[in-house]
Amino acid sequence: MLKVEHISGGYSHIPVVQDVSFHVGKGMVLGILGPNGSGKSTLLKLISGVIEPTAGAVLIDERPMKSFSSKELAKKMAVLPQLHANAFSNSVYDTVSLGRYPHQKGFFSTWSKEDEQAVERAMEQTGVLQYRNTMMEFLSGGEQQRVFIAQALAQCSQVLLLDEPTNHLDISHQKQLLDMIRKEATENGLTVVSVFHDINLASLYCDGLLLMENGQVKAHGAPHEVVLQQQITEVYGAQVSTYAHPEIPKPQITMMPEQADERQTLVSPEQFDITKEYIRLDTRRPLKVISSAVHNAGMGWYNTLLNRSIPEDYNIDNVQEETLQFLKGNGISPTNTVVMLTAVASKLAAVRSFKGNQCSITVAVTAGVGNAVDVTRTHERNDLPHIGTINTWVIVNGKLSDEAFFQAMITATEAKTKALAEEDIRDSHTCTIATGTATDSLLIAATQQGKEIPYAGPITEVGKLIGQGVFDTTVQAIRQYKQAKIKGNG
Ligand code: ADP
Ligand code: MG
Repeated sequence: MLKVEHISGGYSHIPVVQDVSFHVGKGMVLGILGPNGSGKSTLLKLISGVIEPTAGAVLIDERPMKSFSSKELAKKMAVLPQLHANAFSNSVYDTVSLGRYPHQKGFFSTWSKEDEQAVERAMEQTGVLQYRNTMMEFLSGGEQQRVFIAQALAQCSQVLLLDEPTNHLDISHQKQLLDMIRKEATENGLTVVSVFHDINLASLYCDGLLLMENGQVKAHGAPHEVVLQQQITEVYGAQVSTYAHPEIPKPQITMMPEQADERQTLVSPEQFDITKEYIRLDTRRPLKVISSAVHNAGMGWYNTLLNRSIPEDYNIDNVQEETLQFLKGNGISPTNTVVMLTAVASKLAAVRSFKGNQCSITVAVTAGVGNAVDVTRTHERNDLPHIGTINTWVIVNGKLSDEAFFQAMITATEAKTKALAEEDIRDSHTCTIATGTATDSLLIAATQQGKEIPYAGPITEVGKLIGQGVFDTTVQAIRQYKQAKIKGNG
């Protein structure tokens, strides 16, 4: 649809854009990224013909742009510039209607039904219908921006060039506008080239991204090929971190502030608060946590960890809401706390620390093994999970990589299983050695301070601590649980 071939150009004798090439297929959205002054707006002006290229060519449907008359070109391509000539003292309706100019025929142009429909549709799509008779100067910056977009849409061209279209728009209008443009592309084959200020929005909405640096193409490809931590950090000169969008397969970035919370945090068993109701840890600085908890499962940062003792007849149908009420009732912040549940009395928890040369860990376990199962034989049964859970916390005084977090989960699980074998805990259905219970939970947390620990497999330093630590602590917790059962107070 749109081909840009080896285009260069700038202002008078200053070359800005140098040798830029790309293709955009029909119905595709290409995002142009780059720091301030990297030539994004200049590139758009070269494509739209506002400034004459010193080299290279732009083709629309294989036809050189130069060969179009200005009116022909306007039917092919609409442009939303970064800065607008103030079309003030015009109503919104009149401003949008200007977009129909290329469709007017002959000297005595007549306003057709088609023109009217295009204007109405564009105003509706951009949500400015209600302002149709308002003068432009009475609108906010964001509302004016939407009117100019309506004007470009009313042109009904095949290619739409946008320079920072979401400027001045709040998050709801950003979403509305980009959803609408995306829909026009996907459903009606509109081809879009848009400059973006916001890397995350560009990643969310574009099929392809072109990253500019000093007037040249630094990277061009799908969002996952362009939005790379090191590349964005280098090109923009700002430390960023990339992460996966939680719901859709698009990379996102976030800044790394220089002033981080550097208060030293070291977790040890003495900091645990064990009451009748729970085993609780509060830290000065939030821990990075990955867990299968009941409340705030997944990965996140939390100051408070809770393993709450609940009665065996606790109604788990309403667990989310009940947990929330419990936290609020106890003045504990629901957004800053991870909560696990156990039917084991909290006094039966085992909490121990294990020290290596470079790091140390604290392990806390409650082991309700009355309904333990052999995971390799559970396919033979069809009963519902019983209450009775092994909850394992591993808190590392150190900085774990993502890889190390997951290896820590594996290492801890293997050690737990070995502890069950050591204590001869059996699946009551199969009489084989149990591997866990039907509702076990695991939590790995780290202070994320100090030198990064890249791995946590069984023969790394931290892996050795986790292996020994989870094994010893789980064995102790199982023995305490068994003792209490014998005494009849567990
Ligand atoms: P971006 O849109 O990526 O922020 P621009 O394309 O607007 O960057 O600007 C690229 C370079 O061209 C900058 O160094 C800028 O100062 C220069 N420039 C922009 N507009 C003009 C102009 N009208 N005359 C001369 N130089 C300009
Ligand atoms: Mg610009």
